[in-house]
Amino acid sequence: MSMQISVGGVKVGGGAGISIQSMTNTKTHDIAASVEQICGLAEAGCDIVRLAVPDMEAARALGKIRAQSPIPMVADIHFDYRLALEAIAQGADKIRINPGNIRFQHGGDANAAQSPISEVAAAARKAKIPIRVGINSGSLPPEILKKHGISAEGMVQAALESILILNTCDFDDICVSLKSSDVRRTIEAYRLMHEKYPRYPLHLGVTEAGLPIAAAVKSALGIGSLLMSGIGDTIRVSVTGAPAREVEIAREILTVCGLNEGGVEIISCPGCGRCNIDLVNVANEIRSKTRGIKRKIKVAIMGCAVNGPGEARDADIGIAGGAGDVILFKKGVKVRKIAGDNIINELLEEIHGDL
Ligand code: SF4
Repeated sequence: MSMQISVGGVKVGGGAGISIQSMTNTKTHDIAASVEQICGLAEAGCDIVRLAVPDMEAARALGKIRAQSPIPMVADIHFDYRLALEAIAQGADKIRINPGNIRFQHGGDANAAQSPISEVAAAARKAKIPIRVGINSGSLPPEILKKHGISAEGMVQAALESILILNTCDFDDICVSLKSSDVRRTIEAYRLMHEKYPRYPLHLGVTEAGLPIAAAVKSALGIGSLLMSGIGDTIRVSVTGAPAREVEIAREILTVCGLNEGGVEIISCPGCGRCNIDLVNVANEIRSKTRGIKRKIKVAIMGCAVNGPGEARDADIGIAGGAGDVILFKKGVKVRKIAGDNIINELLEEIHGDL
């Protein structure tokens, strides 16, 4: 088991539950827009949010955003260590850096006492916040590329060198990510890291995963297979689109892996020529109106009674379409009938009544 870090009170690693992360796509210096998006993400089930810090204006905005954010915030820093220092001063709960590109940008000796990394490590240690070593296969340091090429081995090597730099600066409050847009390489890199160096909590993600359907498939394969193998402590699904979709997909992945601590799992049939209800509408309505439910509950929505209750026997509660009405069942046992024009309301009442 890995060591545990704390991100603004959210525990990561060391046996803690799997937390969900996302990233804002607002301009960070636009404080109102950023806060609004963070609140939406928190409501959708996001545990930790990351914000890009491309310049000092963004770094200086973090304090005001943090004051209004309901969830811990991670500052995402590249190249300029002074942005990391300002983000820490502004109250960021964690920073994500790639020590490699900060080192190269400033051209200094990373192991020297006064190096940019040592300043960042000292500030993070003083603020008692962790640092994520965020390795991306697309930005490996030149000497690693020369030796390993773009590979899982190269990614792990880059992570280890970054960890060593931080350790040399007497800093060990670290988590690690090893992301690639290639799902197979992502899986290999995390497996290798877990196998060889299990000390540090792992932030899982497949980067640049694309539009929502592609992102869901890639992330379910990449993140999901790792989680199923017991690897990973916190996850971020990358989606081209609204960040709330990232949280939605992440929740589904955790549910499917049996790792969600609460929430509604919808089982719905694909529908066929036997379907007696407006299946898609009912499933969508129940999905959207049960998002806020924290208790773990499995709800089945089946188009007909021929196979419906039997196929969804392990659901806590469900319906199966009939001619003019639907059958309500609990744990596969028929309870009563619901009139066909009142399916959504009565099923919602039953779900809430069951809580
Ligand atoms: S539950 Fe009924 S409607 Fe749904 S796919 Fe099966 S047979 Fe078809």
